[in-house]
Amino acid sequence: MKITTKHPCTRCNNPAVVFQPYSGMHLCEQHLIDDVTRKAKRDLRKYNLSPGTIAVALSGGKDSSALLHLLHTILAPNRKIKIVAITVDEGISGYREKTIENASSLTNNLGVEHTIVSFEESFGRTLDNILETTAHPPCSICGALRKNLLNRTAKELGAGYLAIGHNLDDEAQTILINHLRGDISRLVRLSHARVQPGLVPRIKPLRHVPESEVAAYAGAVGLAVCPKACPYMNEAYRLGVRVFLREFENAHPGTRHGIVRGFDQMIGALGDTYPPASLVPCRVCGEPCTDGLCQACKLLGRA
Ligand code: SF4
Repeated sequence: MKITTKHPCTRCNNPAVVFQPYSGMHLCEQHLIDDVTRKAKRDLRKYNLSPGTIAVALSGGKDSSALLHLLHTILAPNRKIKIVAITVDEGISGYREKTIENASSLTNNLGVEHTIVSFEESFGRTLDNILETTAHPPCSICGALRKNLLNRTAKELGAGYLAIGHNLDDEAQTILINHLRGDISRLVRLSHARVQPGLVPRIKPLRHVPESEVAAYAGAVGLAVCPKACPYMNEAYRLGVRVFLREFENAHPGTRHGIVRGFDQMIGALGDTYPPASLVPCRVCGEPCTDGLCQACKLLGRA
């Protein structure tokens, strides 16, 4: 179903599908696609990509599907860059099956090599199983294991970069959460400029595109999107920040952009004040970590 606003596009008078309160623009489907593409291209230029492989973390949700579609559109003509997709099957019954189906269908349509890895094969248990025997919050476990598996798989595929579908809302929330927790070293680690040995550098070409516009882009280019949310999505702290930011953005358009812009300026000003932590291989899985046992192995109780 197409969603339109009551206004014509500011650029061409066709029916608008989004309004950008922060810019005052109403955009039709084509001008939204152009706007999202322009913002992603601008961020890609900042990453100054080297030739080689970019692995896209593809859950099959709207953000990662839009990211793969966009990167494929922008970079397919570049013969020096190869795009592959990695999907992590955490083992979330009744939810992940559909998004994996969408991910497989998208990679087939685009002709992109697709690797599916699972918690069950890699860690011996599905997320559903793990959660039966732990008191840790689902998203902490899921996030740590997925990060581990994505990095490991991206290295196995020879990828020079791992592209993540974080949108402007995700980015602003994460920056704000680290500020609120006073966790400056973790905050600084969000910067793409900090390259760490053993960690495939992450790129986030959608970090200046609001979540609602990523969803509208996915609709405009005809991507299949699963309407269900993950049944474990209940991380109270992030949810609180999300609600607060949404209300603040509604009252003061441009807040999310301001948070991300301020973060980028702060990273530039910090220079080497917070050098990257020295990393060593995890004694169990070999993935880089600070103290010999990575977070994924700690949470799984591997010694
Ligand atoms: Fe994993 Fe939490 Fe995301 Fe669900 S909402 S996929 S548990 S990180």
